[in-house]
Amino acid sequence: MTETSAENSATSTARPAVALLGTGIMGTGMARNIAAAGLPLTVWNRTRERAEPLADVATVAGSPADAVRGADVVVVMLMDADAVLDVLAQAEPGLRDGVVVVQTSTIGPDGTRRVADWAGQRGVQLLDAPVLGTKGPAEQGKLVVLASGPAAAREAARPVLEAVGARAVEQDEVGSGSALKLACNNLVATLVESVAESLVLARALGVDPHLVLEAVRGGAMDSPYVQLKGTAMLEDALDDAAFPLAGAAKDTRLIVEAARAAGVELAVAEAVQRRFAAAVEAGQGSADLAATFRAPR
Ligand code: NAP
Repeated sequence: MTETSAENSATSTARPAVALLGTGIMGTGMARNIAAAGLPLTVWNRTRERAEPLADVATVAGSPADAVRGADVVVVMLMDADAVLDVLAQAEPGLRDGVVVVQTSTIGPDGTRRVADWAGQRGVQLLDAPVLGTKGPAEQGKLVVLASGPAAAREAARPVLEAVGARAVEQDEVGSGSALKLACNNLVATLVESVAESLVLARALGVDPHLVLEAVRGGAMDSPYVQLKGTAMLEDALDDAAFPLAGAAKDTRLIVEAARAAGVELAVAEAVQRRFAAAVEAGQGSADLAATFRAPR
């Protein structure tokens, strides 16, 4: 594994034409940074109104095939593996020879295998490149890109990786990035659920839950994320999602499935999967993942 940063890697002078498919929360921020890096950009989104606000920096295409026509690098940022495969099938007629598809959605190793099969059958170079970081880092170009794939694909995609990320953690084998992403998101999901339960417990025991955040502040077990999500829970500032609970529930499902397939039991992750599913069931799917705090207990 190697690690590169936008600061210390040689800045590429190449300016590949880029298409970005999926201008949701993450894709929109990434698109702005790709355009700000001076790369010619075309975007597409299933719901066109979500792509229109990017018309000041990108061409907004009417179909995936139109978006990718002439692109050297195609960035995909969609919800799940089914959406990725469906949109790539729609894009296929427009793909040029030698294109590199940079798949950044969280789809797990299994979903990545399906996309790799699709790419392999068509001679498309695939870079598996899920990202760490949420809405703010996406807007600031400060994601951590977990890029896995052949060095040639990583180099071809380098100007895009540098535009969207503060740094990249690179591995050679397609799918390793998606595996690493699940391991990291397990930390995100279990941490948020743990904060929620600690606040619920304090309240149930008759203690002001704000005191939990105050007591741990600055200590070894504190973290910016604990304070950020804990405060959002206590202020009920959960409707403007940085990471929608529906996406987090999808990720916990991928985590548990991948662990089982690998023959390990993740007891905490399985419990968190049930909690997130219950919160989605309770209507919190479009709220932030911290809205697990609102789920009935
Ligand atoms: P989002 O705002 O809900 O965006 C989801 C995108 O997927 C939208 O463009 C949506 O199109 C599209 N989509 C969903 N189903 C589709 C389908 N069947 N066909 C075509 N397009 C479809 O979610 P997001 O937060 O940006 O998440 C995107 C991906 O990034 C997910 O895999 C998520 O797990 C991952 N991720 C999220 C975060 C985060 O903090 N938000 C961080 C890292 C990774 P419409 O607009 O038409 O619905």
